[in-house]
Amino acid sequence: MLNDLRQEHSAFLIPHSALKLNTMISKKLAKAINDQINAEMWSAYLYLSMSQDIYAKGFHGIAHWYKVQFLEEQAHAAIMINYLHAQDEKVVLAPIAKVQTSWKSVLATFEDTLAHEKKVTAMINNLCDIADEDKDRAAANFLAWFIDEQVEEEENARDLVRQAKMIGDHIGGMIMLDKELGAREYHTPAPLK
Ligand code: MG
Repeated sequence: MLNDLRQEHSAFLIPHSALKLNTMISKKLAKAINDQINAEMWSAYLYLSMSQDIYAKGFHGIAHWYKVQFLEEQAHAAIMINYLHAQDEKVVLAPIAKVQTSWKSVLATFEDTLAHEKKVTAMINNLCDIADEDKDRAAANFLAWFIDEQVEEEENARDLVRQAKMIGDHIGGMIMLDKELGAREYHTPAPLK
């Protein structure tokens, strides 16, 4: 029966010798994604720290915005953990390094957020470079979501810097921004749905 089927479909069968059967993720890329999980958890911790400093400054709405950011970064780590699991790789968690705990102003916090997101973009681009070297199409596809996400992250941070610069020392403007950012809702990122 099986032999009959094989013969019937033989025209569509490519000999094994002509196919590269190595569809596994490379050790280099698995390690780089594992490192990125730590980087995402560090980002989460950085934003939780920014949230605490801003809360202490009295801007509870902006502090809430950063708490949502903290949740998002943990979700990014979870998405990468799921991908390594799907590729039959063990995730090895490393310690999360110390983060800064105070900033001179809300504007300085926003500027550090933008600078940090630019660094994360470079890290994600580096993962894409490895996937390209490996000709790993599954990984390239997986990483495309993070490329889009980083465009959004940088745009959001740039908006915050721009708004804080426009507001300057006008406390009324800061109170309005605080109210606006306090309304942010957390949405589970699409890859976790
Ligand atoms: Mg992230």
